[in-house]
Amino acid sequence: MNKGNKLYEGKAKIIYETKDKNLVIQHFKDDATAFNNLKKAKVEGKGVLNNRISEYILSNLSQCGVKTHLVKRLNMREQLIKKAEIFPIEFIVRNVSTGSLTKRLGIPEGTILEKPLLEYCFKNDELNDPLISKEHILTFGWATEKELNLIDKSTLRINDILTGMFRAINIKLIDFKIEYGKVWNKDTEKKEIVLADEISPDTCRLWDVKTEKKLDKDRFRKDLGNIIQAYQEVARRFGIMPEETNISEVNFGKTIPIKFKKK
Ligand code: 5GP
Repeated sequence: MNKGNKLYEGKAKIIYETKDKNLVIQHFKDDATAFNNLKKAKVEGKGVLNNRISEYILSNLSQCGVKTHLVKRLNMREQLIKKAEIFPIEFIVRNVSTGSLTKRLGIPEGTILEKPLLEYCFKNDELNDPLISKEHILTFGWATEKELNLIDKSTLRINDILTGMFRAINIKLIDFKIEYGKVWNKDTEKKEIVLADEISPDTCRLWDVKTEKKLDKDRFRKDLGNIIQAYQEVARRFGIMPEETNISEVNFGKTIPIKFKKK
């Protein structure tokens, strides 16, 4: 699949056109950002690992009947995906309190929630992705009630599937963020809602069951070190470490700060 013009460049990924107007290429960068871009670094090998881990997770979800944007992984850093109109909403599911929930509401760190908590944030960097309610989404037409009901149901089902997938490799799924989009279905000649973006240690909080060691982007956010080793550990436990032959092409493990400004 030939790569065409760059359509969009985000903090961790680049989207390129292809000859097919309904398909694009998603390229995973090594860039890591936190606190709305105030902290930035290159974490060598991160893009390769996230590409592989996200492919593995989305393929598993697809086998469970969840519709996703993924067509196939093309190479170490790229996936062929369906071109989607992304809903401007981050769907966050929490099983254990930490992060912004603990900060916002004072719920003690590590509190196990009685049932998964679903939150919505407005995807807007300038506004710092603010927390919103269902009413905001409906009032401003960011999704219809029917779309939101379908997405909410799918999101909680994804939480169940992911919780089991991670539990099987001795990892607790603490929380995660997902995104959805609408894609053109050639067969039905209608738009349909699919899971988009990525699911990886960049978008989840993952704690080792026994030691509660963080195996996710909090290692970068909180300067805990060994970021890439943690991502590699997740891939290794899934049994999907990137091909041995290609590993030497990637300089794994080095973190090169780009800029660091304290809030
Ligand atoms: P919190 O709201 O506690 O900062 O994040 C909750 C969960 O959603 C965490 O797993 C976090 O990684 C994920 N998350 C929330 N917003 C973003 C975002 O803008 N980018 C990424 N990569 N993950 C996010």
